[in-house]
Amino acid sequence: MTPADQQAELSALVRALRDHVEAERDLGARWFAAAAPVPNAPSTAARVRSRDIAAPRPDRAPPVAASAVPRARTEAQVGERSATGAESAVVAAGTLAALSSAIGDCRRCKLAGGRTHLVFGVGNENADLMFVGEGPGRDEDLQGEPFVGRAGQLLTEIITKGMKLRREDVYIANVIKCRPPNNRNPEPDEIASCLPFLERQIEIVRPRVIVALGKFAAQTLLGSATPITRLRGHWHTYRGVKLMPTLHPAYLLRNPGDKRLVWEDVKQVMAELGMSR
Ligand code: SF4
Repeated sequence: MTPADQQAELSALVRALRDHVEAERDLGARWFAAAAPVPNAPSTAARVRSRDIAAPRPDRAPPVAASAVPRARTEAQVGERSATGAESAVVAAGTLAALSSAIGDCRRCKLAGGRTHLVFGVGNENADLMFVGEGPGRDEDLQGEPFVGRAGQLLTEIITKGMKLRREDVYIANVIKCRPPNNRNPEPDEIASCLPFLERQIEIVRPRVIVALGKFAAQTLLGSATPITRLRGHWHTYRGVKLMPTLHPAYLLRNPGDKRLVWEDVKQVMAELGMSR
């Protein structure tokens, strides 16, 4: 490499570092304050179950800067995020309670008009494992909690009987917090309005593994149009967090023969978390 080439490479590195720092600054530099990962940290099902909810998270690597990875949002969606005080409160929220408070009685999209309850999320704020679904259905809308209907009962069985965890050991949320009419698919403007809340939830919980339940959650988080049948069963990455797409429990209710596929995916998740079967 010639001196000129070396100079060009050094300049490119400086530019990349400057962009990265600016991106972090835009996000409030939250992750610069996070501790470095601890090598060889214990990782067992018991640890997953017993984590003190209030304990700090020294064993968790900070997610990489949002600008350093492919974004699920489109450019148009990004443009719709305004710098209002409410949005600033969402970005600044350091706990799930603060985030829920910042979201408040959200009217940011047209789904607000048809909901009974805004379904924020439930579970352990320090969970190693986070499940992400599409959005509330009828039961979830009525009860204000994600995955409480028949599909939710199946997810609970996967957690309790399959993984030997309690539902309160994990964190469960959806891409969309309010039920679309007749359970239709969320529309792009609704996703643009609501996705920042899920993004912030993931930043706060900082799970070691995300399980994306179904096509919609997987494709949204990965910014991919690849069918769930090809996404599932393989590890992906969402902002530095390992992500396993799998089939949605509602699909399994209609196609119980495919439960074995989900079990294969769950076994990979358990192995990643150091859990024995
Ligand atoms: S779906 Fe999300 S953005 Fe729309 S009103 Fe509900 S919480 Fe707000």
